Amino acid sequence: MSDRTSDRAQLLSSAEALVAAWESRFGSFEPHPATIPEPARLERAWQAFAVRMEDHYPFFHPSYAGQMLKPPNAVAAAGYLAAMLINPNNHALDGGPGTSALEVEVVEQLATMFGLRAPFLGHLTSSGTIANLEALWVARELHPGRRVIYGEAAHYTHGRMCGVLGVEATRVPAGPDGRIDLDAVESECRRGNVGTVVLTLGSTGVGAVDRVEQALSLRERYGVRLHVDAAYGGFFKLVADAAEPLVDPAPFAAVSRCDSVVVDPHKHGLQPYGCGAVLFADPAVGRIYKHESPYTYFTSEELHLGEISLECSRAGAAAAALWLTLQVFPLLPQSGLGPMLAAGRRAALEWSDRLAGSETLTLHLRPELDIITCFPSAVSMSEIDLRSATVMRAGMAADDPIYLSLLGVDRRTFTTLHDAVLADAPMARVLRSVLMKPEHELHVERLHARLEAIAGSG
Ligand SMILES: *Cc1c(COP(=O)(O)O)cnc(C)c1O
Repeated sequence: MSDRTSDRAQLLSSAEALVAAWESRFGSFEPHPATIPEPARLERAWQAFAVRMEDHYPFFHPSYAGQMLKPPNAVAAAGYLAAMLINPNNHALDGGPGTSALEVEVVEQLATMFGLRAPFLGHLTSSGTIANLEALWVARELHPGRRVIYGEAAHYTHGRMCGVLGVEATRVPAGPDGRIDLDAVESECRRGNVGTVVLTLGSTGVGAVDRVEQALSLRERYGVRLHVDAAYGGFFKLVADAAEPLVDPAPFAAVSRCDSVVVDPHKHGLQPYGCGAVLFADPAVGRIYKHESPYTYFTSEELHLGEISLECSRAGAAAAALWLTLQVFPLLPQSGLGPMLAAGRRAALEWSDRLAGSETLTLHLRPELDIITCFPSAVSMSEIDLRSATVMRAGMAADDPIYLSLLGVDRRTFTTLHDAVLADAPMARVLRSVLMKPEHELHVERLHARLEAIAGSG
């Protein structure tokens, strides 16, 4: 059996060797003395740094099942390191000829995953927030003065970005399952002046999947744009495409008929932070980005990615890391990335079954993806709130720790889903767990037993 950390060390040293070999092709030179660290100072700094780095939760470990956090795959880390040591800038072809080409290829692979057919337009961004900002900006340019509709469970940055763009935004309710209420969306469309509807594939709170396939008719009937925020859930398209899909394939299949989609490779795509992506079905939106900068270099007639991106400098290393990762773990349902997401999905299904049979814990909502919500069984919302917070803290402090997170649930949702619970508070926090590491599949039994033990003793 291979050892996780020695495999990583080997990959990282391959990255260093690759760059050293490349550098040696150019004439050797002495580094400027000013750039050389003073050994004793470096030693002290490194020691202090090691101490500061201890202050993190063990995101890599299966016992960490709290937030949407995990380290990059070692392949991604090695790809990133190698490219980062060269430090290309994917703003322009002159800044990063090699990595710009890699970016074009990975964007094609993402488009293929979503079933978007060429010609389309897309590129990587530094985050899901920036990717959504671009999609909303393009939406505003195409439908100036018209509203953006998004759901209560949509990511909080949609409201913020509409503010940045000066676009009027209307927030519509979500059902108790976390999905946007399409009747509410439709009545807003009927009221008029709607330019764009934002749908979420995998809400950040509970992983709710909006019924994209049911929203498609809004596009025809009201002429609205449909933007899909699949920052979290986008890669579950691979699970949806499997021979035995473990998620409902319909909303995922409908993405190809929407106007734009965002996905975060730095969430479920095994990448380090700094890697989002936005894709547009109609490449003609590229004209909106047109700019003339005296700084832009022109050694090539080809399209510079900076000409179709809101951001200027972007890490070529992000494209390199994703490209290398997808060569090793391609975007396929039955091999590569697909089975990794399927493992997390199976973990969520298994844990929710265990929770449904538990006395100590109550399943809050059946998971649609790999996010679990539950709470210590109690008679009232106020007690559930208190006990969830206590259990979360006790879990982290235990000798054999388990790391979870909390999610605030409003009274309306709570009473709909749990009518026997006394609704004595406007809000109650419940326990939330994101099972985004394949290893969680092998640890569910343990995670559940630990949680039951902690909740039972509280
Ligand atoms: C994480 C997330 C975002 C924001 O993406 P960042 O990469 O954190 O900026 C937007 N929408 C959804 C659904 C998300 O899960």
